[in-house]
Amino acid sequence: MSQKVKKVTERVSFPEDEKLRPWLPLLLDAYAIIDKGVSIAVREHEKEYKSKLACKKGCGHCCRTHSDIPLYPLEMVGIYWYSIEKSGRPLRGIIKKQLLEYRKGDPCPFQVDNACAIHTVRPLACRQFNVFSRPCSEGEDPYYTRRIDVLTPIEKYTHEAIKMMLPFYGITDESAKVQAVKTGFIHTQVQVLQACKWEELALRIGE
Ligand code: SF4
Ligand code: SF4
Repeated sequence: MSQKVKKVTERVSFPEDEKLRPWLPLLLDAYAIIDKGVSIAVREHEKEYKSKLACKKGCGHCCRTHSDIPLYPLEMVGIYWYSIEKSGRPLRGIIKKQLLEYRKGDPCPFQVDNACAIHTVRPLACRQFNVFSRPCSEGEDPYYTRRIDVLTPIEKYTHEAIKMMLPFYGITDESAKVQAVKTGFIHTQVQVLQACKWEELALRIGE
């Protein structure tokens, strides 16, 4: 689900948008932490198992195979913002069409020409799903066929990123954040990407 781990450990930045939308820096900071954690975990995995990362641009079977990608509310807001305001033509029109045609349980509607059309704001789960040794076959979920080739994310970075997102949910106090991470508060907020009503987003995307 990558196209992903190209040396993307730098935080992307949208200064004007971030000034107007206080939730946006939270999301972009969180994603930068996730990407850093993934980059370190990939290096460690490659060294330990002497096996190279297989994910690369244009390799997108995973986006069609996975049927239960977790998506948090802040991530959903990010996807709305990016699809409506940042995707250019002709991609915007293609996304809109795919979202309009989307039916619950279909593969992810953001895949266009084997690539992720919302790569900048793709969900945390997509960022962390990385596979080594050889690309997934069509329909293969290597988590079940060859778990050893699937990256295990470093928990410390996942927790840090989740902590970064918590002010969006009204949790701003440091000790409350620590407690929320410990109790898995964020998981009470999760939706499944393939179960979302994407038509609502489609109707807000211009031609
Ligand atoms: S190797 Fe698998 S997980 Fe990685 S991009 Fe290709 S299909 Fe997706
Ligand atoms: S958002 Fe969709 S297209 Fe993008 S990486 Fe995730 S599953 Fe793939």
